Amino acid sequence: MGRDRKLVVALDGPASSGKSSVGAAAALQLGYRFCDTGLLYRSVTWLSLQRRMSPGDVPALVALAEEVHLAPDHQGRLDRVVVDGKDVTEEVHTAAVDQGVSEIAAVGEVRAALLPRQRALARDRGIIMAGRDIGTVVLPDADLKIFLEASVEERARRRIEERGIAPDSREAGEILSQLRRRDELDRTRAVAPLRPATDAHILQTDSNRFEQTVGMVVKEIAAAEEARSSQTKAPA
Ligand code: C5P
Repeated sequence: MGRDRKLVVALDGPASSGKSSVGAAAALQLGYRFCDTGLLYRSVTWLSLQRRMSPGDVPALVALAEEVHLAPDHQGRLDRVVVDGKDVTEEVHTAAVDQGVSEIAAVGEVRAALLPRQRALARDRGIIMAGRDIGTVVLPDADLKIFLEASVEERARRRIEERGIAPDSREAGEILSQLRRRDELDRTRAVAPLRPATDAHILQTDSNRFEQTVGMVVKEIAAAEEARSSQTKAPA
């Protein structure tokens, strides 16, 4: 498949909807690059916690945005994050970061600082970019916009299973309430709230296995590539 066929794909959805893992797997199958933008917000949050900054200190938070860098994994996917030369991808997925990230992500100035970096990545096309506002704000002209939906209970169930937690434990209950809280904050914030773009293809994934959702995403992208190449083909 020629590189010219490749698209810019926005992949949005709520917390634990599978965007990162599904997007990364689909990118691998299709030979696309992949970028997980949640890592940028997570690493700014992690750094602010490390340095005991107040979430109200906007200029200091904006300065942190300069310190975080996305890095490729061994398959070229931008799903690692590096701060001060150190890979901190594991550190930014802790409960403390889960707890604080939506508050930091609601700061318009932090979002504005991260915006040009995300857009620059899409310039070369052939990318699946995962986040909350990719289709609405970061890449409003994306060739294809996909929004992954799943009920909060199903998303909590997947995360609990992933982490090997007992389903009736206190920790499991906390995961569900944490997801509800993050959904609420992400959906109701004034700047770039989580919502599907009007032209997004909404994929319901509640009853899917992981591979089925990857298959749906791959199919959507392949169909959009096909539609685009038949549009641009010169008449015989
Ligand atoms: O996708 P992930 O759960 O890692 O994202 C962490 C948080 O970062 C989200 O809850 C959201 O507050 C924020 N985020 C965002 N915009 C994006 C990606 C993530 O606001 N494009």
